Amino acid sequence: MEEKDILILGGGPAGLSTALYLHRLRPDLTPRILLLEKEHYPRPKLCAGGLVADAEILLQSLGLDVSEIPHMDVKTAHFDYAGSGLAISLPGTHALRIIRRDELDAWLAAKAQERGLEIRTGITVRDVKPDPAGVTVETSAGTFRARLVIGADGSNGITRRCVLPNAPIFTARLLEVLTPLNGNGERPERKHDAYFDFFPVPDGIAGYVWDFPTQVQGQPMRCWGVYDSNLLSYVKRPPLQAPLRAEMARLGYNLDDFELKGHPIRWFDPFNPFSVPGVLLVGDAAGADPLFGEGISLALGYGFVAAGEVLEAFRQDDFRLTGYRRRLLMSPLGGTLIARWLIGYLVYTFRWEWFQFLLWRVLQPVVMLVAWLFVLNWGKRLVQRRPLS
Ligand SMILES: Cc1cc2nc3c(=O)[nH]c(=O)nc-3n(C[C@H](O)[C@H](O)[C@H](O)COP(=O)(O)OP(=O)(O)OC[C@H]3O[C@@H](n4cnc5c(N)ncnc54)[C@H](O)[C@@H]3O)c2cc1C
Repeated sequence: MEEKDILILGGGPAGLSTALYLHRLRPDLTPRILLLEKEHYPRPKLCAGGLVADAEILLQSLGLDVSEIPHMDVKTAHFDYAGSGLAISLPGTHALRIIRRDELDAWLAAKAQERGLEIRTGITVRDVKPDPAGVTVETSAGTFRARLVIGADGSNGITRRCVLPNAPIFTARLLEVLTPLNGNGERPERKHDAYFDFFPVPDGIAGYVWDFPTQVQGQPMRCWGVYDSNLLSYVKRPPLQAPLRAEMARLGYNLDDFELKGHPIRWFDPFNPFSVPGVLLVGDAAGADPLFGEGISLALGYGFVAAGEVLEAFRQDDFRLTGYRRRLLMSPLGGTLIARWLIGYLVYTFRWEWFQFLLWRVLQPVVMLVAWLFVLNWGKRLVQRRPLS
């Protein structure tokens, strides 16, 4: 049995950022940290790869610059109802940066390894058993023992299932498809823009259809998808692919010509538990954004908050992690998660056509203000905090 002080289970943005923040704040802990990842980098991850400014701010706080990775910059992000609505662009910079997740995560893992953090790939975690003296982790490569475990194994991860088997689960459904750049007769200005269209909401799909520019191995492509938070699961709904099919057809694409993939997202609920003694959860394992299904920036933010809690546990030699919930919910990350959770209920429960029309086409200044205050701009406030406060 191999022993480490800190075991991180899962090497997506949440696990890797936790390791990187721990390294930045307490470099002496680096040899005592081990990250286990079941895949080998670069590994596929179904995701549209849209990074908001907060993600870049968090990465910059780690001394990392994502422009090193192949990317597409989105000049304007459109939040529409049935084809028109609110357009957001930022003066002098991009509104959104799109990066393929296999490339982003492999780059982040390489940066962690360059800093001396140990990552073992191709190891699947099978069981996580906390006890009063530590945590035992059973894997495909044998048994590990740690003082603390960070569950960063995503929406379908095993850590949460082992340590919090009875916690309620809130899961969104997503479908995604990649297509070449041009359909028949689409608007040429779409090339650099990202679109979120909330037209499926009145039909009971509590989310939107997206259409982003992306690149795959240097080739410009479009990434399309549909997000349903499932907040209207009590309503009779069309099949999830119906709105995606309709939007693609409107722009000259036939969904049946492309490979459709699906993956769930576990979303955040403030009443859910986020830790048990010896084990804390980060990223999708703890809960992503219920409003948009956004999770990359949040996963990076969880890394910062979790690192603070882990360092406090070592400082006090107390591994019950009783402060994690408060630390998370009281942080700017917790603030945006709670706000998005509340706004999600509001935006999707009032599903009537007139309300969606009003929201995206008429109340634009109000929507911009709410987004500016509660949805965006939390990353800078988070990293300006002392991580141990
Ligand atoms: C279709 C789709 C589109 C999306 N688009 C966006 C977007 O545009 N922008 C955005 O911000 N977010 C988007 N998201 C959400 C985003 O992908 C997630 O929120 C983000 O990946 C969460 O990061 P994470 O590190 O918590 O989990 P993950 O990225 O899922 O990483 C978990 C890691 O744990 C590993 N793992 C799992 N189980 C085990 C095990 N048993 N043992 C060892 N390792 C294990 C996995 O291999 C993986 O590497 C999208 C999600 C989906 C499904």
